[in-house]
Amino acid sequence: MTTPIPPRPFTAKLAEKQILNDKFQLLRFEVVAPHDFAFVAGQYLLLNVPGTPQKKSYSIASSPSVGHGFDLLIDITPQGLGTKYLSTLNDGEAISGLAPLGQFIISNSNEQALVFIATGSGVAPIKSMLDELLIYSNDARPMILYWGLRYPQDQFWYDEFAQLAEQHPNFVFHPVLSKPTADWTLCRGHVTDCLTVHALPNEAGYYLCGSQAMIIETVDLLQRAYSS
Ligand SMILES: Cc1cc2nc3c(=O)[nH]c(=O)nc-3n(C[C@H](O)[C@H](O)[C@H](O)COP(=O)(O)OP(=O)(O)OC[C@H]3O[C@@H](n4cnc5c(N)ncnc54)[C@H](O)[C@@H]3O)c2cc1C
Repeated sequence: MTTPIPPRPFTAKLAEKQILNDKFQLLRFEVVAPHDFAFVAGQYLLLNVPGTPQKKSYSIASSPSVGHGFDLLIDITPQGLGTKYLSTLNDGEAISGLAPLGQFIISNSNEQALVFIATGSGVAPIKSMLDELLIYSNDARPMILYWGLRYPQDQFWYDEFAQLAEQHPNFVFHPVLSKPTADWTLCRGHVTDCLTVHALPNEAGYYLCGSQAMIIETVDLLQRAYSS
């Protein structure tokens, strides 16, 4: 087992904000302290919301091998304290919080294939894992990502994942839209409508992140598939 990294207070400055579409923003931060900010791909941070006692959780969307900084992928639709704060943050402004947290990380067991299943901003920790595995660790195991969004206008990062698949033939990307236009030729419906498990080794590891409904449906499907 990897030794867990103890959570510590951190501060970071907003270095870049990318408005991906009306729903999603990518915020790129430069760490100010601690100088040895570290995390494992898949972990999250607890963000202080200034002027309130509230703390909000956000997954780190970039690989830990990217030194001195990290990305957050934000679904800005809720517009509660956390998303209002982050979506109005300006370049150079500082955030603070506690990191790293969470046990949603790649297990060190003998998983022969890795299947990632996400909806919406649930792809954030999975992006961190895939970048780390494919780009920085040259992991050659078969990997599949099923990523569900609702509308065509919600789409982003399709080029990044397509490029990753082109450069790493062991990685396959399946975008899924639940409310596509008629000309959408790829997976439609729920991610579970597109998931094929029978071709995978029994020792595949499944990593799920997203809506509660997706997690319940997927766990149910996997339990039925592997018990038959
Ligand atoms: C471990 C962990 C990691 C997380 N990582 C991320 C991440 O990487 N990116 C990210 O964007 N979020 C992430 N979240 C969710 C995040 O912590 C907040 O819950 C979210 O940003 C809403 O916070 P808020 O303060 O803006 O709204 P809140 O005050 O919490 O909610 C405002 C209103 O919006 C509703 N609401 C909440 N979520 C949604 C939604 N997705 N769509 C529509 N309405 C909603 C609530 O029910 C409420 O009525 C994560 C949560 C956890 C537990």
